[in-house]
Amino acid sequence: MDGLGPHFARLTDNLDKLSASDRSFAESLIAQGVGRGLSMKQLEWVRRLAERAEATARPRLVGFAPIVTMMLEAQDILRRPKMVVRAGELDIRLSVAGQNSRTPGCINITSPSGDFETRKFYGRIGKDGVFDPSLSIEPDAMTAIVTVLRMVAADPAAAAAEYGRISGSCSFCGLPLSDVKSLRVGYGRICSRRFGLPWG
Ligand SMILES: [Zn+2]
Repeated sequence: MDGLGPHFARLTDNLDKLSASDRSFAESLIAQGVGRGLSMKQLEWVRRLAERAEATARPRLVGFAPIVTMMLEAQDILRRPKMVVRAGELDIRLSVAGQNSRTPGCINITSPSGDFETRKFYGRIGKDGVFDPSLSIEPDAMTAIVTVLRMVAADPAAAAAEYGRISGSCSFCGLPLSDVKSLRVGYGRICSRRFGLPWG
């Protein structure tokens, strides 16, 4: 089945994920592919349907709305609220997409350093609290990212404190934790107020 390209098996494996009309179209393409082969245009449809089936099969990552709420509330005080946490080997940065972006008010998840052009994009949390991961990230790295985002959603103070302990810096403003109490809490006092978190 060499002539059927790399997407044919993806489609046959995921047929049951398609809607009824897409499935009957896919089945006719498969039957014809196995028989006399497919045209370029039909092979393109095989790819499209395979992608559609896999997108349906992918679980939706829900439940991140508390992150959106916390960040947008902080935006009343800060122009550009952000937070950095550790996801496995990576530091990731949560920031509010600006008014001029395509998705204002959503939370962008990126690498922490560099500017908008050079930061690596890991995904975005919508206002509905659904995390939409970048598909170009290694699965292991994405698992670590989702795990730490779940922690931030469930207990932002604990997530920020964890980062403070690992890095010695405040998760929110990036300044070194210098006084004893900040070191013990894991983030700075001013940032605790800005993000509505307890401080000791
Ligand atoms: Zn701070």
